Amino acid sequence: MITRVLSRTHLGLPITAFDFGSQGKKILILGGIHGDEIEGVACAKAILASFMENYPYPLQVTIIPEANPDGCLMNQRTNSRGVDLNRNLPTKDWSAEIKSERYHPGPSPLSEIENQALVQELKNNYHLVLSLHSWKPVINVNGNCLKEAEVLAKFTGYSIDQDIGYPTPGCLGTYAGLERNIPTITYEIERGQKIDQVIKMHPPAIYEMLKTL
Ligand SMILES: [Zn+2]
Repeated sequence: MITRVLSRTHLGLPITAFDFGSQGKKILILGGIHGDEIEGVACAKAILASFMENYPYPLQVTIIPEANPDGCLMNQRTNSRGVDLNRNLPTKDWSAEIKSERYHPGPSPLSEIENQALVQELKNNYHLVLSLHSWKPVINVNGNCLKEAEVLAKFTGYSIDQDIGYPTPGCLGTYAGLERNIPTITYEIERGQKIDQVIKMHPPAIYEMLKTL
């Protein structure tokens, strides 16, 4: 395993990536873009812990368990500057409109350090991005990754959605999945699921998906 510090946040915390495998397709697993969605962070950390014990895939997997370390520390959706990182990416549909403080897009597209680090990381020719969030249970697909999403759906019973049902300007699914041809799955774990259940249910589904790549 290789550990990389991609950047430092506004509060000076490291944004850390953990790399496994040296050949094969490149997969990026993200947790904690929204700092209060601890289910996704727990899932990413459980996968990280498992891979540190045993990494069996002919793939290159990078895990960033806390893509928004300040938000994770402060137990809030936004980063420490009050910006929703999943509305701040430089997509064609980025909008300066502040619908509510929860969805604050930032002063300009890609204004935030965390997203600058993520955009830089996405230049590494990824085959698939899996971003772990929590909300109502759903697997959202952007780009050509329906087959992978179907494996997750089969093992969790979650439904697949190719349109989350409301506009999400500046989000990762649009930036990577639709505009950069990097297929992106936004995996919404059920909000409030007990953490031991999160760890029991979701990493195994992701391992099954990795086996198909
Ligand atoms: Zn989220």
